[in-house]
Amino acid sequence: MATSGNPVTVLSVVGAGRSGTTVLASILGEVPGCAGAGEIRWLWQRGVLDGRPCGCGRKPSECPVWSRVIERCLSTPGPDGVPPTVEAIVAAQRELGANRNRLRVLRSAAGGGNEWAALQLVRDLTGVAVRAFAEATGAGVVIDTSKRPLDAAVMAQVPGVDPFVLHVLRDPRAVAHSWRRAKSFTVGGDTRTMGTRRLPATVRRWLASAVGSEVLHRHVPPERWLRLRYEDFCAEPAESLDRLLSMMGVPGRPPFENDRTVHLRPNHIVAGNPSRFDVGSVQIRVDEEWKTAMPRRDQLLVVAGTGPLLRRYGYPWRA
Ligand SMILES: [Zn+2]
Repeated sequence: MATSGNPVTVLSVVGAGRSGTTVLASILGEVPGCAGAGEIRWLWQRGVLDGRPCGCGRKPSECPVWSRVIERCLSTPGPDGVPPTVEAIVAAQRELGANRNRLRVLRSAAGGGNEWAALQLVRDLTGVAVRAFAEATGAGVVIDTSKRPLDAAVMAQVPGVDPFVLHVLRDPRAVAHSWRRAKSFTVGGDTRTMGTRRLPATVRRWLASAVGSEVLHRHVPPERWLRLRYEDFCAEPAESLDRLLSMMGVPGRPPFENDRTVHLRPNHIVAGNPSRFDVGSVQIRVDEEWKTAMPRRDQLLVVAGTGPLLRRYGYPWRA
């Protein structure tokens, strides 16, 4: 597909759910020239079909930013010469996400896959969406927290995109503990509760995310990849963000009020953790409740399931 104008820099954030990716995107979105888009992969299913609210509190179809993106995506001819339908987009996304296709998608980060219709459609559409979002927000850098390595693999070959990857890790014991707590949030008088997840499922997903990220890492140039542990980010937020922004050549910095507090304005983060609705002074602090509240037996189960990778990422086996 032909593209015009300057390339849009996109930071794909990969990592397991409840690893702090949404709060990171909210903070990065405050850097001049950057905008947090949220989990772009969910724009169609959760955003358009289910009508779940954007960070601004409106449905994406009523949000001043995402309504423009949706309109552009559904009126731009796809690889087959006609504009795609929402149903066709969701079906193509499902095809890429199927277990049997995941490795093929991850490898496509280095190029190829042009003959695969579903991949072509999602790539083209992602390009249209990212450019329209950049235009609507006036940003040159877009933060995509879709989180799955395969979405970052697709982004790596989108025409007109200058792609970077941030791999966020968090201690799987903290992740498992977080998934057990029901989290509620209220937007526009509508209260929703985020799903909880049992321990084996969390371990499985944490592993899948880590292994998928390692595979993706092999197909992305090293100068475009940064690994960041959420715990290290919380310990030194400004330094961590400096490294990340320097990698992308972004001169601006987030509006820190002090070394642990940042000021957040309303955003247009389309899907993700309810923390996307937080505005005003937000304190960055590492949540280590699991160390005291998680039964020892459960901690050991997580360690048994993730052991070698736990060590690889520098997490001690003993809390
Ligand atoms: Zn919005």
